[in-house]
Amino acid sequence: MSFSENLAEIEARISKACQKAERETAPELVAVSKRQPDERIEAALAAGVRVFGENRVQEAQERWSERREQYPDLKLRLIGPLQSNKSEDAVALFDAIDVLDRPKLARTLADAIQKLGKSPDILVQVNTGEEPQKAGVLPADLEAFIAKTCPEFGITPKGLMCIPPADEPAGPHFALLAKLANRYDLKELSMGMSGDFETAILYGATHIRVGSALFGERDS
Ligand SMILES: *Cc1c(COP(=O)(O)O)cnc(C)c1O
Repeated sequence: MSFSENLAEIEARISKACQKAERETAPELVAVSKRQPDERIEAALAAGVRVFGENRVQEAQERWSERREQYPDLKLRLIGPLQSNKSEDAVALFDAIDVLDRPKLARTLADAIQKLGKSPDILVQVNTGEEPQKAGVLPADLEAFIAKTCPEFGITPKGLMCIPPADEPAGPHFALLAKLANRYDLKELSMGMSGDFETAILYGATHIRVGSALFGERDS
């Protein structure tokens, strides 16, 4: 299938899920372009897609730095783990950073934001499955992170992001993320990928991150 056929199908599935959830506003579709060949990126741009997600700073710079000038309305989100020494590069390139999850990163992001005079949207990643290998603030630590760590560095997060464990139903994780966002009065929920975005829409996702269902399988 062509990119625009995939896009039409995903958009139809999004509207259907919104109807089922009795939602009036659809979530923003973030097209996850990591490790996709150039011709698919061009097809997405030609189809009018402007919001893209990337999980590595350097790869994103290579893919987007020049295209940014050509497409001033691009919105780029960083959705993969960020090393604190890449904070300045990340703030320079991205409009949103979904993966704040530790005090050191809050500090380096805050420094970069001040130095560059930019203000990307910041989301806090939550490790809802409490998986040791996975990034994200543990649910039990979230209150302190939101109420103390973020203000200490002058960061006002807009929302929360999660990646549920691969081997569990995603619904309970999305429900937990929505509950936490509500508790801390955060408006944005970045959740749901190719395999589970309809479930995420039911639980109130404001941003869904869809890669392979849109572009096809990635290079490994
Ligand atoms: C790769 C990735 C996605 C997209 O995954 P698909 O299953 O291809 O839709 C979404 N979110 C994050 C954090 C990712 O790393």
